[in-house]
Amino acid sequence: MDMDALTLLVDLHRDGARQGPGSDAITRQAMALAGLTPQAGLKIADIGCGTGASALLLAGDLEAEVTAVDLFPAFLDKLQARTAEAGLSSLITPVEASMAALPFEPGGLDVIWSEGAIYNIGFEAGIAAWKRFLKPGGLLAVSELSWFTAERPAELEAYWSEQYPGVAPASAKIAQLEEAGYTPVGYFPLPASAWLDQYYAPTQARLPAFLDRHGHSEAARTVVEMEQAELAHFEAHHRYYGYGFYLARTPGP
Ligand code: SAH
Repeated sequence: MDMDALTLLVDLHRDGARQGPGSDAITRQAMALAGLTPQAGLKIADIGCGTGASALLLAGDLEAEVTAVDLFPAFLDKLQARTAEAGLSSLITPVEASMAALPFEPGGLDVIWSEGAIYNIGFEAGIAAWKRFLKPGGLLAVSELSWFTAERPAELEAYWSEQYPGVAPASAKIAQLEEAGYTPVGYFPLPASAWLDQYYAPTQARLPAFLDRHGHSEAARTVVEMEQAELAHFEAHHRYYGYGFYLARTPGP
């Protein structure tokens, strides 16, 4: 994707509360399933944090110190504004960095959180690269594109092997976590509403203003067509795929 298209995508999504499927209830469901409870001083990194949906909950609910990492300053600016509004500036530190080169000390984090973002480097590469930053017994919490059934139409398989070859059933993702040296501690699939109501509907509502802002340029219209095609694809096929939330721990001390 060229830089102009990326800039347009960031412009479309920076006004969203979330940049991917999920909801506050789902973030809290994962926190509860992992057994996280409020603990001042808990060190959490939120990787690919976007405009901060999960970072705000992790800091607000757990009193944790959250380092919120994203590649795009426009998202981090939004996150910073939301953080100030929520009175959480002392707990959330935005950091502009790539998830492929995280600026953390080895073994310093209690929790690595990442919703709808690890696909940018791939699940297997991400879980392997990030493990060293966790303390012994540290928690990894990631949501990731997954097959929800053992079988699916061939054209769907072909579409995703092009779009994201890493897509796999939960059983395979859990095996990958084990092979990477984690102990899986929880999994649940996200409901379709996490995409349709929480992500696609607000995105669709922003499209007319987005087109106006960019004078209905060809590049902007291409972005809109991509968003609409993605939504139509999800509506047609969401019984077969969606996001899974995966929770795993490194071996204890
Ligand atoms: N976690 C947020 C955002 C998910 S969208 C939420 O659930 O709302 C994916 C995010 O990953 C975007 O914010 C995007 O800017 C970020 N991203 C993409 N490539 C990245 C990279 N290489 N390093 C860090 N962040 C990246």
